[in-house]
Amino acid sequence: MKRTPIAAGNWKLNKNSNEAKSFFAELIKSRPQSQNCEIIIAPVAISIESSVEAVQGSGIKIAGQNCYHKNSGAFTGELSPSLLKAAGCTHCLTGHSERRSYFKETDKDLSLKNKAVIEEGLTAIFCIGETLEEREAKQVEQVLERQLTYGLEGVDFTATQLIIAYEPVWAIGTGRVASPTDAQSAHAFIRTVLTRLYGESTAQSLRILYGGSVSPDNIADLISQPEIDGALVGGASLKPELFLPIISAIEASHA
Ligand code: PEP
Repeated sequence: MKRTPIAAGNWKLNKNSNEAKSFFAELIKSRPQSQNCEIIIAPVAISIESSVEAVQGSGIKIAGQNCYHKNSGAFTGELSPSLLKAAGCTHCLTGHSERRSYFKETDKDLSLKNKAVIEEGLTAIFCIGETLEEREAKQVEQVLERQLTYGLEGVDFTATQLIIAYEPVWAIGTGRVASPTDAQSAHAFIRTVLTRLYGESTAQSLRILYGGSVSPDNIADLISQPEIDGALVGGASLKPELFLPIISAIEASHA
């Protein structure tokens, strides 16, 4: 099954509107020609509209980093899937480990969020991954299976409406990347769980991204693994000179 690869960037709490515009001007000017890789960037909410404007006509897609599971009401400070869509987003991250740990998002919260995002017509980029303690306790598979089973409970989707990002928590922002073999085996396990839950055809079509200290130096080895369909990149997505070689390596691997 041929799956179009993805280079996704998560800017976290970085870049105002002007900085976002400069980034996109540089990225669009220098990006690879072949364009057989989807590029998705998740700016901070307040920079979404200027980002959408800046990427017009380039094919680059814009994602929310988070949203609430309701579209309106008395939820001060929240952002809804419908507002993201109206602003021009096509995707939304869900379940990032920073949301799970700092903002106490649970598997149940995430199933509501995934459902709301997908029902609005956005694609959810659903992040899962184990902590270091869980890895050391040999609970990786148990954790991934739980996060998938409960985080997607009651969520109806087609293969284009969901992307899974495997992000081992100990690799995020630490410079400690998973080995290509460990990442490959986690991805293969995730696809096995997805096959059991949703059937062979859906599982084979879903893209599974690796995230956690991806850099221009390690992307080629990661993307050469058959179950790795792209990357979700934090720190290295903030600078065009780092993100561009990552895009190029992903493109080259699927040329
Ligand atoms: C992330 O924030 O999703 C991430 C993977 O960050 P970094 O690439 O900086 O480890």
